[in-house]
Amino acid sequence: METLLTPASIAGAAYLVAALLFIMSLAGLSRHETARAGVGYGIAGMVIALIATVWAVVVDAWGSGSLAIGSVLLLVAVLVGGSIGLWRARVVAMTGMPELIALLHSFVGLAAVLVGWNGALGENHLTGALRDIHHAEVFIGVFIGAVTFTGSIVAFLKLSARMKSSPLMLPGKNVLNLGALVLFVVLTVWYVMTPVLWLLIVVTVLALLLGWHLVASIGGGDMPVVISMLNSYSGWAAAAAGFLLNNDLLIVTGALVGSSGAYLSYIMCKAMNRSFVSVIAGGFGIAAPTSSGDTEEGEIREVEAEAAATLLQNASSVIITPGYGMAVAQAQYPVAELSAKLRERGVQVRFGIHPVAGRLPGHMNVLLAEAKVPYDIVEEMDEINDDLASTDVVLVIGANDTVNPAAAEDPGSPIAGMPVLRVWEAENVIVFKRSMAAGYAGVQNPLFFRENAQMLFGDAKERVEDILRAL
Ligand code: NDP
Repeated sequence: METLLTPASIAGAAYLVAALLFIMSLAGLSRHETARAGVGYGIAGMVIALIATVWAVVVDAWGSGSLAIGSVLLLVAVLVGGSIGLWRARVVAMTGMPELIALLHSFVGLAAVLVGWNGALGENHLTGALRDIHHAEVFIGVFIGAVTFTGSIVAFLKLSARMKSSPLMLPGKNVLNLGALVLFVVLTVWYVMTPVLWLLIVVTVLALLLGWHLVASIGGGDMPVVISMLNSYSGWAAAAAGFLLNNDLLIVTGALVGSSGAYLSYIMCKAMNRSFVSVIAGGFGIAAPTSSGDTEEGEIREVEAEAAATLLQNASSVIITPGYGMAVAQAQYPVAELSAKLRERGVQVRFGIHPVAGRLPGHMNVLLAEAKVPYDIVEEMDEINDDLASTDVVLVIGANDTVNPAAAEDPGSPIAGMPVLRVWEAENVIVFKRSMAAGYAGVQNPLFFRENAQMLFGDAKERVEDILRAL
């Protein structure tokens, strides 16, 4: 009697467990309190998936009489890739995470392109509708993979400041994007009917250019949405590779990543007052800014740490709005200590978190949790914005774009329409930063010139420590 326990069936059962763990991981990641457990489920799922896949391939090769060269290469690839991944994850600074993630998305895209090309070049004995479906899978997989690949490379370059974050404004950019999509549909039908190699070459080049252009056309302020969108694309690229490789887990996991990434992009678009369709279409319908936003306006007032400490001592309510600079300075620990000290003295202290503060969704929440700031004093922008007007002192710690009044008041600004923390409504605002440099979107901030704003120049960690000493 034929046994049901074949390597493929055992791997299939392991895949089911892994898929469940991935779903539990996503559920865990949706709340602060369960996020750590969520990461644990994800790691467990990935370990099971990896072992099951490698084991099934090696046992299969062993059963067919020889430990094929393919199995050896597979094991070597897992060891080399795993070691590089472990090393990068251990050494990456928290501020380098966004670009590392963008780079990892590009690998998923490249893998999908290679799998697609392998599917096209390899032998297949399919006929009729199955053959047409196979060709469509190849073509679509290569397209999504190549868009993800170059799009993620541009995101990596922009996030690591190797490329300027302002949007590329080619004449007729919307027509170019739309034309590329229409051409892709036409080429897909053509390839399914006549699967010749040059069509695959054309679609690969087309998708590589489109991915580059889509992300290059997005301005700094919209980059968070682009990153979650690329995350979603990388999921669909993995799912497409799963169809070609006949791997159910890759299809399920790709669909999970693809749909959760798309939903995150949608939530971020809503939070940023942007149209989802226009962002995924490379800024479709977003008018070019009419002002560069880099003109300085008036005088600034400087403050020293001692004077800032006195202001805080006399305050009854304080709101801290952290931004990317807090991550750069690693100022979360002294900031947490400052908030605890003020609370001990009876001052009401809360944190106001902008949805895109920092360089990763949830970046500030992670830093504050790391420094053990209680969750109940950390509030989202929408929860806290109306309270800013009745607040004595706001401490802007390394935030810039997320507290820029130009977004609310200057319709020609590159960040016009983006909801921001209305810190300028408070009685006093102290801005911690090192210079008068603009934020990520490259837009000057009129907040710095307001009468109720004072600049506390220097590294945010050092300046907060100075205040702690003075208190
Ligand atoms: P910004 O990037 O706008 O500004 C950060 C500020 O921190 C800078 O002006 C810088 O000024 C200051 N800074 C840097 N290092 C230090 C330091 N050591 N000490 C003190 N200050 C420092 O930050 P925000 O958080 O306000 O806004 C985030 C921006 O990033 C938005 O435009 C958002 O769209 C974008 N983005 C967000 C992503 C996300 O998912 N959250 C992803 C990709 C982009 P100076 O140099 O003078 O010190």
